[in-house]
Amino acid sequence: MEITFAGKRALVTGAGKGIGRATALALARCGAEVMAVTRTQADLDSLLLECPSVRPVCVDLGDWGATEEALREAGRHVDLLVNNAACAMLQPFLEVTPDQFKKIYTFKETVYRGTGGSIVNISSQASQCALRDHTVYCATKGALDMLTKVMALELGPYQIRVNSVNPTVVMTEMGKLGWSDPNKASTMTSRIPLGRFAEVEDVVNSILFLLSDKSSMTNGVTLPVDGGFLAC
Ligand code: NDP
Repeated sequence: MEITFAGKRALVTGAGKGIGRATALALARCGAEVMAVTRTQADLDSLLLECPSVRPVCVDLGDWGATEEALREAGRHVDLLVNNAACAMLQPFLEVTPDQFKKIYTFKETVYRGTGGSIVNISSQASQCALRDHTVYCATKGALDMLTKVMALELGPYQIRVNSVNPTVVMTEMGKLGWSDPNKASTMTSRIPLGRFAEVEDVVNSILFLLSDKSSMTNGVTLPVDGGFLAC
């Protein structure tokens, strides 16, 4: 199945590292004009070296005003949006502090356009299954799944499709934070029928599918990329 995004403009948040960076590079390879948004300039510098056609935007998405200013003009012309940026702050439920909730919730962003397009929100298996120490992460990813569905409902009439991918653990910097300990990792892989964590490429392929016309009748789904974890 060949996917092309020639003539399309894409915006990827959290494009400095991990899944977001790989998605930005894959979209550029498929012909899209890519805007890469992240908050660490050094990551954008190295991304540009790797792919000079990418348009870099350095902004902290936790700062609503700065984000609006940085993306006001560009946001009007986006066909494909990947809401990927997030961080993981792991704590037991009883130790969760109010600022942790605020910090994660303010990362959510929605983009409203009237000329058709596709949005993919990067959720997690944690949106649908309780994971120890993941109180805020599970809660916000659960909210993101519902946001995806409401956006699908409300933006569908404008021919904007909204879906999410829900990966299991991927050993990016974020994945390593929670799952580097081999004993802890094996408790998770033992619950995944395919017996392994996801690779970045597994997630990127699903994102590209949902962004592309190959999924033109798919709207409002939360697509597990989890080797069967959520099915069992
Ligand atoms: P990484 O930590 O590897 O990369 C996240 C990227 O997002 C970094 O470039 C980071 O920049 C950027 N970012 C984070 N917060 C902000 C912000 N406020 N403003 C701008 N940029 C920001 O994470 P992953 O690639 O692993 O995760 C990507 C997505 O996938 C997330 O939504 C995550 O929840 C989801 N996911 C990840 C899983 C995993 O196991 N890795 C499993 C399931 C879902 P900087 O480094 O400068 O902070």
